Amino acid sequence: MELNGKTAIVTGASSGIGAATAKKLAAHGVKVGLAARRLDRLQALVSEIEAAGGKAIALEMDVTDQASVSAGVATLHKTYGRIDIAFNNAGLMPISDIASLKLEEWHRMVDVNIKGLFNTVAAVLPVMQAQKSGHIINTSSIAGRKTFPGLGVYYATKHAVAAFSDILRMEISPEFNIRVTSLQPGAVESELFEHISDENYRARMEQLKEQMTFLKSADIADAILYALQAPDHVDVAELFIMPTEQPW
Ligand code: NDP
Repeated sequence: MELNGKTAIVTGASSGIGAATAKKLAAHGVKVGLAARRLDRLQALVSEIEAAGGKAIALEMDVTDQASVSAGVATLHKTYGRIDIAFNNAGLMPISDIASLKLEEWHRMVDVNIKGLFNTVAAVLPVMQAQKSGHIINTSSIAGRKTFPGLGVYYATKHAVAAFSDILRMEISPEFNIRVTSLQPGAVESELFEHISDENYRARMEQLKEQMTFLKSADIADAILYALQAPDHVDVAELFIMPTEQPW
């Protein structure tokens, strides 16, 4: 796909992988709708993108709230007239042992990582179906391919995203010319560990940074560009990107 002049929505654009990808898309001439809850962060990113000659708008959005997602997508569509790319990336990883029964955190992960992604897919799909073109990228994880003790509910959510993405591709790609990519990164430097309330797991995850060089968010943005820029008849259905030093 030629990116210049296209329109994208990026959820989770206020930090990490989403922010890096939004910047990279804008640098390639994509008009970007930046979606997340922290409006101040989004507005700062809009300014940064505009200062570099790009185009972006801030969409204050809670992906768990279907009305908020529909309103944001409608604003983006009205502003730029199309939606060519949807990067469904908002996510949380407050991990803990299942026996800790942190039920509120389990529900929050399901609400954001799975149901939030369903909300954004449901909002953009009619637009892309009408256009008969589009590219949906869903952020799963290495956690959508493997399982490890201690990361149970997070891994369950990312397996759900991987499975949903694969079926979405089979159902909609041929008929509507909408490509689907399941993004599956290993360890990436971001704010993801900041929401881990279990001190033991938080410390263990932070220690990983001393054991290997994490991927940068910009590395993931580069991989996404590769999938987007592939010729129209090529669907990069999975992007599995790992730190070279990650041993599992
Ligand atoms: P960050 O914590 O930096 O980014 C998470 C983003 O999700 C933030 O922009 C946050 O914005 C947004 N978000 C969270 N809850 C909501 C909500 N209810 N509504 C809208 N937006 C929300 O982490 P990453 O960049 O690392 O994470 C991005 C994605 O990548 C996640 O899905 C994560 O699971 C996945 N991933 C990360 C890996 C890593 O090692 N970092 C590895 C594999 C996958 P705000 O708080 O402003 O709403």
